[in-house]
Amino acid sequence: MPELPEVEQVKKTLYPHVVGKKINTVEIRLPRLIKYPTAEIFAEKLTGRTITSIERKGKYLRLNLDENLYLLVHLRMTGALLVIKKMAAEPLYAKIKFVLTGDEDLWFTDIRTFGTLYLIDHNDKNIEGYDTLGPEPLSKELTVDYLAPICSKKSAAIKGVILDQKVIAGLGNIYADEALFAAGILPQRPANSLNKEEIARLIEAVNAVIAQGIKNHGTTFRNYQDADGNQGDNVKHLFVYGRKGEKCKVCGETLCGLKVAGRGSTYCSKCQR
Ligand SMILES: [Zn+2]
Repeated sequence: MPELPEVEQVKKTLYPHVVGKKINTVEIRLPRLIKYPTAEIFAEKLTGRTITSIERKGKYLRLNLDENLYLLVHLRMTGALLVIKKMAAEPLYAKIKFVLTGDEDLWFTDIRTFGTLYLIDHNDKNIEGYDTLGPEPLSKELTVDYLAPICSKKSAAIKGVILDQKVIAGLGNIYADEALFAAGILPQRPANSLNKEEIARLIEAVNAVIAQGIKNHGTTFRNYQDADGNQGDNVKHLFVYGRKGEKCKVCGETLCGLKVAGRGSTYCSKCQR
């Protein structure tokens, strides 16, 4: 599933192709992907709009349009935004086609079809999950003073806490496992058992793994690709995610797997406490 670094990579690769382009028509092949408003109004309001810039917040992409409209896209499991030449064959799993001015079109493709799209204006609040996003990794808001009081109130596993988008925006299973490994903290530790020094280490680790993921253009597991159809390079830099049963790259111990907060989690019982 695309996490913050992958969505950031999609944003960067999309930008030069679509910013400044006008949306001529929208062809929706799977209307249930449009969560707000209806698919008909979505297509009607987007027609004739120009994409003025692109932002990312957590795992959401926001395509800013003229007329104060914003196209929000969450890729979820297998969604992708691809830019394809008009004369080329259409992409696999094509669900929505945004016909643009110029020689390329923008496609939303999705294998598992969990992706969600919204067309909002500045008055629209309460887009589920978007308006309640917590601070981002690498932002000055993500501090020990912010995170320590949240952890002290929760006896749930620390991994579940850092996966909560209301606590930190943008982490998913890959970067959560990697950050906990880098910080030397077991994913199943109750959040309220972490001391301030461990929380400081965890924040530092979250920032480091996210920065590395961005630098390596994201991590590709199975289906993720950026707007140019390229895959990320970060997988070879992973220490634990997807490596259950393999040897720890630091100490040589066999890595353990455990379900934590409902998610498959991999950790080293020697390096993490
Ligand atoms: Zn180890």
